[in-house]
Amino acid sequence: MKWKSENLARLARVLERETGSEVKTHVPLAPLTSWKIGGPADILVRPHSVEGAGQLFAFLHLHRWPWVVLGRGTNVLVPDAGIRGVVVQLNHLSHIEQRDSGLYTVGAGMMLPELVRVCSCSGYSGIEDLAAIPGSVGGAVVMNAGAGAQTFSDALVGIRVVHEGAMRHLDPARLNFGYRRSGISPDMVVLEVTLQLHFTSTQQCLARRTAALEHRKQAQKVEMPSAGSVFRNPPEASAWKLIDACGLRGFSIGGAQISPRHTNFIVNTGSASAADIVALTAHVQRAVFQSCGITLEPEISFLHEESNRYEA
Ligand SMILES: Cc1cc2nc3c(=O)[nH]c(=O)nc-3n(C[C@H](O)[C@H](O)[C@H](O)COP(=O)(O)OP(=O)(O)OC[C@H]3O[C@@H](n4cnc5c(N)ncnc54)[C@H](O)[C@@H]3O)c2cc1C
Repeated sequence: MKWKSENLARLARVLERETGSEVKTHVPLAPLTSWKIGGPADILVRPHSVEGAGQLFAFLHLHRWPWVVLGRGTNVLVPDAGIRGVVVQLNHLSHIEQRDSGLYTVGAGMMLPELVRVCSCSGYSGIEDLAAIPGSVGGAVVMNAGAGAQTFSDALVGIRVVHEGAMRHLDPARLNFGYRRSGISPDMVVLEVTLQLHFTSTQQCLARRTAALEHRKQAQKVEMPSAGSVFRNPPEASAWKLIDACGLRGFSIGGAQISPRHTNFIVNTGSASAADIVALTAHVQRAVFQSCGITLEPEISFLHEESNRYEA
């Protein structure tokens, strides 16, 4: 579905009026991603509350407008042409509420490092190892973010989503969480989660959190824009070792380079396009397959210019 440029302002006004969300048109997406790559969104919408988000997705579903969700953009590649349709960011859903002991209800837009900080300061343990993962809570559910000995799904006891315009509660125990995978389908949007953490002590939690942050500084000292690990580790080996063994450390296509420090990271040396990243990703896959017969699977989410889920 393509919208005429001159119609966008009118469509944006309709969205603002009908859903009460913050709405902008022709928004460059590169600054909203950790790779600093990608073209503009026709329309960017940020609902102010869970209920507002529910209204927004009910409207998008009813009128069959194309949409896609962007978290904090730390695990996605936005195409150079940008995204036609509506890009939704849940940044304003950053509430946190502690209910019974260790039970936290958290908005999907909250930053994961901030969530870890708040829980650790209260002495509640379960997610400290994730302190250096730069994404949102919603992104952490969908990607099942993990570091050290912890993954986000371990702490999850409830997920509130909107699906086909209607709010639903999901039981995480019934989803297929695995290594960097969740059972959240692409047409579901995570709005809020409930976590069960357990009390240890503030001192213990903060020490573990500090250790995670320090470890990251040492192990992944990558100064240029990146999206973290590009490939999932296959069962039989580490992706970075396979890439290194192909002699690809520092190899580049256009402005995209295999990080000289961490070979499972692709960095933007300043002028990388999305096309450069795609070409380099494909090059790595070919080289690794030719050398050892293993197909590396991307961990990154590749967004598409045509975001209309109803045409799929
Ligand atoms: C320097 C660096 C280090 C990293 N280290 C780690 C690490 O140690 N471990 C790890 O697991 N990851 C790591 N990552 C990757 C990334 O931070 C995580 O995958 C993170 O959970 C992604 O969250 P996000 O909000 O940025 O999601 P985005 O990148 O914005 O989105 C990722 C995908 O989730 C979807 N999505 C986002 N929010 C929602 C929502 N609310 N509802 C439905 N779909 C949604 C998007 O459409 C997209 O398909 C790292 C990234 C960087 C840049």
